[in-house]
Amino acid sequence: MMKYVHDSFVNVPIDLRHDAKILTDEFGIDVLYVRQCKYVKCSCFDDLNKTGNPDCPMCHGSGWFSSIQKVKAIESRNAQGAYGSGSSLAKMDIGITDQMSEIFYIQQQYNPKERDFLLKVTWKDGMPVDILKVLEIINVWEMRGDDGRNELNGCVISDRTDLVNAYRKMLATLPKKAIYQMAKGGKSIWPSITQP
Ligand SMILES: [Zn+2]
Repeated sequence: MMKYVHDSFVNVPIDLRHDAKILTDEFGIDVLYVRQCKYVKCSCFDDLNKTGNPDCPMCHGSGWFSSIQKVKAIESRNAQGAYGSGSSLAKMDIGITDQMSEIFYIQQQYNPKERDFLLKVTWKDGMPVDILKVLEIINVWEMRGDDGRNELNGCVISDRTDLVNAYRKMLATLPKKAIYQMAKGGKSIWPSITQP
């Protein structure tokens, strides 16, 4: 059976990095990117199992500190989405297509990784106000331009409704200074060092 995904950029001879930026600027939405910092362990980290405590209020079970950053990502709901219809469908050769309904495209410089999170939030004056969705990245693939350079990443995501309250709490606890920093595109670290 043929399977398709709507990454219509893939096989087109263009400057993909340039186009990815234009597309992202035009169609992207602001999300918060939560990256596991795999060098600072949370206090709940279990050295034996190499994981965190799932009930940990600090790291939500990842076992690591994380950085949070505002990024633009293109949300695509399904194979017939904004870029999906018509002749530009590209064949995809990896077995992730069953969950095509939940895909985000992120520019390569953000280097998205599996087990990181995207937070869909409401914004006011460029600052995050409330969490709408917590989305775990469960698969990442690279889209390469003609010269083989990675230009854009497709991320299959899983809706983690179970984590919404935890991240709400996190957002509410972030110091104002950290929120301002994020609004300007900077990174904020969680758990915050000003946590009790
Ligand atoms: Zn923890």
